[in-house]
Amino acid sequence: MIRELKHFIGGKPVKGESGRFADVYDPATGQVTAKVPLAGPGEVGRAVSAAAAALPGWMATPPAKRVQVLFRFRDLILEHLDDLAATLASEHGKTLDDAKGSIRRGVEVVEFVCGIPHLLKGEYSEGVASGVDVFALRQPVGVCVGITPFNFPAMVPMWMFPVAIACGNTFILKPSEKDPSTGFRLAELMSEAGLPSGVLNVINGDKEAVDALLADPTVAAVSFVGSTAVGEYIYATGCANGKRVQALCGAKNHMVVMPDADMDQALDAAMGAAYGSAGERCMAISVAVTVGEETGDEFVRRLAPRVRALKVGPYVDPQSEMGPVITAEAKERILGYIDKGIEEGADLVVDGRGLSLQGYEDGYFIGGCLFDRVTPSMSIYSDEIFGPVLSVVRAKDYEEALGLVNDHPYGNGAAIFTRDGDAARNFVNRAKIGMVGVNVPIPVPVAYYSFGGWKSSLFGDHHIHGPEGVRFYTRQKTVTARWPSGIREGAQFHFRGGAET
Ligand code: NAD
Repeated sequence: MIRELKHFIGGKPVKGESGRFADVYDPATGQVTAKVPLAGPGEVGRAVSAAAAALPGWMATPPAKRVQVLFRFRDLILEHLDDLAATLASEHGKTLDDAKGSIRRGVEVVEFVCGIPHLLKGEYSEGVASGVDVFALRQPVGVCVGITPFNFPAMVPMWMFPVAIACGNTFILKPSEKDPSTGFRLAELMSEAGLPSGVLNVINGDKEAVDALLADPTVAAVSFVGSTAVGEYIYATGCANGKRVQALCGAKNHMVVMPDADMDQALDAAMGAAYGSAGERCMAISVAVTVGEETGDEFVRRLAPRVRALKVGPYVDPQSEMGPVITAEAKERILGYIDKGIEEGADLVVDGRGLSLQGYEDGYFIGGCLFDRVTPSMSIYSDEIFGPVLSVVRAKDYEEALGLVNDHPYGNGAAIFTRDGDAARNFVNRAKIGMVGVNVPIPVPVAYYSFGGWKSSLFGDHHIHGPEGVRFYTRQKTVTARWPSGIREGAQFHFRGGAET
């Protein structure tokens, strides 16, 4: 049976009205499982009105009271973890363990913002001039919007709305139309946890809904996570419309394997980071830069059989290490890159193109692929493929490897594998990258640090969640106060510094 999904506006499910729908697939079977409404300006306007109406009451709710909802929300997610993970995996295709892990990473953000009363503490300076005190406080920005990608339908929304809501804002989530059910379910659980109606709304849709949100003058701030082309557009349009925007975008994450690396550790890291979630992670390792010919030879020789042995399968099979990619179009695009890599002269050591699984012939599966002797001029090196494809680039020395990392237009994550503390320290210092790992392939920061890349991987001034998330969703107000009992100086017509008073 094909379900008809809904928006979540003003605390309740709302049917789509635009007449436009998109199909939602089970990527393992290729079957349509649901139809998601694609909102037009009417539904978007209603969601914005609901969020605006809820704002005064929620802003005025003491932070300690707001977090009572978040404490309950955290517990509800953990109670429903199995169901949530199954919903997520059935639309995304990732394995159940991976789905659960990603939800738990989102829960960590909720746990972080349960401390919001402390995080919102301001600054106070007594007696900056005679009888004058100054204090700074942070206030919510207003109605916030989150536009999220398909690859983390629970974690990425939870990088945003728990922080925004804890800070006293109201929120509209526009999840990916490819796997929208998890975002909707999270909103239901927030409601069950006691969130007042209208504080969190979910609008399903595509560019039309996004454009309506970007044009709405009531929307104060927009968080986007997704591809670079769309992120650049959302950043430019949102800023032109006077909104605060953070846009976290695409990536091409390198792991540098030094000659002294613990090769077992580096190979384990490459397997998980390149092929976990079918390579559909913005922090996936898609390039391994091996330093020295011998390092490259050993890395490829020992990695290739492991890539061939990857257990590819549907999320319902607990043995699966890697699921399908998200859509038929994504599969076509990835296969196109593999063909191009061969044409451009790279050496396809493991070819996952022909994979077919009995009973899942219509699923969007691709086996793990491994390219060797990739060079910077090839499109498989320059472009984000977002699939289970790892490219090995051979560098003669450390400086050449670092140059590759720094010259690449993307700057989300990078890791160095070495036992040499000097090399690691040098890499940490000189890599033009937002998140760096030392013998850690996917250096996603814990929730109380902030997540974000450099260069074409992020547009805007703020990284997401952690302290930068709290700054993004609040604005500072600075107050200078004098009370009548202080010294009376009469009218003053010139500026004076504190030392003169
Ligand atoms: P996408 O850019 O296609 O879609 C992201 C969101 O933007 C979706 O909600 C979608 O509906 C909307 N959208 C798509 N096209 C639009 C348009 N023309 N105008 C307005 N809105 C539009 O991204 P995706 O394919 O869902 O996700 C994969 C991408 O996300 C990859 O590039 C990946 O690296 C990136 N990503 C980045 C991070 C990060 O933190 N940097 C995290 C996760 C994913």
